[in-house]
Amino acid sequence: MTVLDNPAFDDHELVTYARDPVSGLSAILAVHNTSRGPALGGCRMWPYASTHAAETDALRLARGMTYKAAISGLPFGGGKSVIIGDPAEHKTSDLLRAMGRAVDALCGRYTVAEDVGIGVADVAQMAECTTWVAGMPVGESDGDPSPATAYGVYQGMRAAVRHSLGRDELSGLRIGVQGAGAVGDKLCAHLADEDADVLVADVDAERARAVAARHGARTCPAEDILAAELDILAPCALGGVIDDVSLPRLRARIIAGAANNQLAADHHGAALRERGILYAPDYVVNAGGVIHISHEGASYDRAHAFAHVGRIHDTLLDIFARAERTGEPTSAAADRLAEARFTHPNPEAFRGP
Ligand code: NAD
Repeated sequence: MTVLDNPAFDDHELVTYARDPVSGLSAILAVHNTSRGPALGGCRMWPYASTHAAETDALRLARGMTYKAAISGLPFGGGKSVIIGDPAEHKTSDLLRAMGRAVDALCGRYTVAEDVGIGVADVAQMAECTTWVAGMPVGESDGDPSPATAYGVYQGMRAAVRHSLGRDELSGLRIGVQGAGAVGDKLCAHLADEDADVLVADVDAERARAVAARHGARTCPAEDILAAELDILAPCALGGVIDDVSLPRLRARIIAGAANNQLAADHHGAALRERGILYAPDYVVNAGGVIHISHEGASYDRAHAFAHVGRIHDTLLDIFARAERTGEPTSAAADRLAEARFTHPNPEAFRGP
């Protein structure tokens, strides 16, 4: 089976495989669409069960980045890369530099940044071998996109609450955060400021405990968070959490979180709507990091960058209103809005920088 037969393949402009036997690098780089500009997207390092699983993730994540940049009005295309391996065990300087060389070989068609398993220091090591990196310390920005992502998710939650509950405050609402990582931790800080009733879950129970203690929240076993009685569920771990198994168990009224590709399949957007659950489309609500990256550079202004991220609130209100008017799921309303902003297939593809 080739990548062309992968159900996640969506006329991606480029998919390339990188191997470096010396460092053990095994990676896949996917560029979905560059009609709005060169592709930008993080690099994920994860111990995938198979090459096929890694390829599927790279294809879906790259496509999601095209939609994210388009809906946010950014001059980027969509791309993503995945490294197959356990970051705790296999991440070495040699491997990261080999990944930098693989990115460099795409001559600017794809710019790499952080994602799960890859942090600012790792991107800095890739930058020893390529200039096509983002999410690096420049001027007053430390390069970490997660504070902006968390702020965007918080603003997205506020929009969802305004739309479905007719109020602007999150105080007293029960909010479940799945994933106490970089984004989950900072999201909990915003929720604590609002006096929300927060439950935190992580497969790493110690991490959940530490985040909960830091923000006056409570912990919840990782296996229980999806079915917990919540006003808002915030998936901030990995994708595919809304599927045929989890959907009937959900008891939240709103879903708004940072994870990419939260819906296992497109039809789960319609199923959420039928269940009366308001879904904030993932690539809209989690765009804070990429919006922040668009402000990086010598003239970086944090207040200006975060004000831009805050516009996620109004973008979501618009999507919720459109979906209500047309009767379609919010995920479909967002897709239509994004698709109107890029050309697919892209006639400009393969021209290079
Ligand atoms: P992270 O790796 O720092 O944290 C993820 C956390 O989720 C980890 O603590 C992990 O133990 C936990 N986890 C994994 N599986 C879980 C499960 N089944 N149940 C509960 N917890 C589980 O990652 P992050 O940077 O916080 O990103 C979180 C999500 O948001 C990812 O899907 C990422 O792609 C997405 N995202 C992140 C950013 C960003 O700026 N970091 C931007 C856009 C989207």
